[in-house]
Amino acid sequence: MSKSEARKSALRSLPSVDQLLQRVQGEPALSDIPRARIVQAVREVLAGERGRLMDGLKRAGAVVPPDPDALARRVVAELSRAGAFSLAPVINATGVVLHTNLGRALLSPLAIERLHRVGAAYSNLEMDLRSKERGSRYAHVDGLLRRLTGAEASLVVNNNAAAVLLALESLARGKEVVVSRGELIEIGGEFRIPDIMRRSGALLREIGTTNRTHLKDYADAIGPETALLLKVHTSNYRVLGFTAQVSTRELVELGHSRGIPVMEDLGSGCFVDLRPYGFPYEPTVPDVVAAGVDLVSFSGDKLLGGPQAGIVVGKAGLVERLRTNPLNRALRIDKLTLAALEATLYAYEAGNALETMPTLRMLTEPLAAVRRRARRLLRRLSPRVEAALGATLVEGRAQVGGGSLPLVELPTVALGVGMPGRPAHELDQALRAGEPPVIGRIADDRLLLDCRTVLNSDIPALAQALSRLA
Ligand SMILES: *Cc1c(COP(=O)(O)O)cnc(C)c1O
Repeated sequence: MSKSEARKSALRSLPSVDQLLQRVQGEPALSDIPRARIVQAVREVLAGERGRLMDGLKRAGAVVPPDPDALARRVVAELSRAGAFSLAPVINATGVVLHTNLGRALLSPLAIERLHRVGAAYSNLEMDLRSKERGSRYAHVDGLLRRLTGAEASLVVNNNAAAVLLALESLARGKEVVVSRGELIEIGGEFRIPDIMRRSGALLREIGTTNRTHLKDYADAIGPETALLLKVHTSNYRVLGFTAQVSTRELVELGHSRGIPVMEDLGSGCFVDLRPYGFPYEPTVPDVVAAGVDLVSFSGDKLLGGPQAGIVVGKAGLVERLRTNPLNRALRIDKLTLAALEATLYAYEAGNALETMPTLRMLTEPLAAVRRRARRLLRRLSPRVEAALGATLVEGRAQVGGGSLPLVELPTVALGVGMPGRPAHELDQALRAGEPPVIGRIADDRLLLDCRTVLNSDIPALAQALSRLA
């Protein structure tokens, strides 16, 4: 056979797109995969196979013709592994409660109910039902925020990064903003104070040193160009040792005596004092407002335990400048977020936030309760699976995460697994590839499944995943 004949015959041995489609049609594993996606996968598998045939011919002069059933199985395997949806639940067994890459705070049942109801129906998002005139979307959470924080006014945007950008652009474009060098933070995901400052058009006036900044440094920096004194909560790190910071109260006193507004980017923005649960003191939003800060910004989905949002509270005149800035339209909060945020804030006002918000519950859950959940997981494994995985309970330390309370270590209990001849990273990878994916952490070549962040409702699926692994 000539070269070109061999080529033709090899290509003829490939099924056509239609033939391969026929073979995968009606496959139950693909019932929720749109047809266009199946066609695309079929084309890709055929293209790969064509490449393999041509390659084989070039190197060996002959090829094994493809098995159409095997090609069909490959299409089905690839599509069902990817699933119909890309964004999907996972089991967080990392022990990091506010894991930014795993979606930070979990919403309360009430928040989920509210976003469900508001998403499925028309709503009074921007209509005043009494006057039938245009209303404000911010009004749905404004009263709650004012009552909960004691501030005069509020505004909500997409996230705290947007809140800081909007505040700087509204109040300090082309003017100076004074910030301590000890607070020029970077939060994961490209949020850096100097960069956001540049984007806003405000001029950064750095003062003090990394470890020590004094009130005098602020006072000396204030001039005709100063628009704002900015305090940034060092939420994801601490400088320890020979340090000095200016307290919020002192800064407010200075700002007010010189007629310069003071803003604090609080980062996490907690509403409840978590000291009774063994946490160090973190200034709560009402504390910072009471200290006289003119504008406070914080996230909705960190310690607050709600949806992604950036919340600004403070003096009415300043908040109004943010609200009417055209940039605010581009950072506008969505109705589903508002619905979930209103329910989240409602829980604080109703006084049941600690019981109903999953994130706060996880953070404050006593060690004994975490241990009970870990034991329940262990009991669900058959003796054979338990032995094969070398499963044991391991006491350890979990983290808050999300750039909150960086030094806090929560006592926790994990299920540790390890198999002779299978390195921990392989077990980790296998669990991540499962359905639902399980994300653990590796320590001393054991895979630890931290039960502080595992939900009670995750236990059956997690036990099944471990059984499959064994
Ligand atoms: C987390 C954080 C931000 C960014 O908040 P997002 O809601 O993630 O945009 C900004 N400033 C501080 C101090 C933070 O901790």
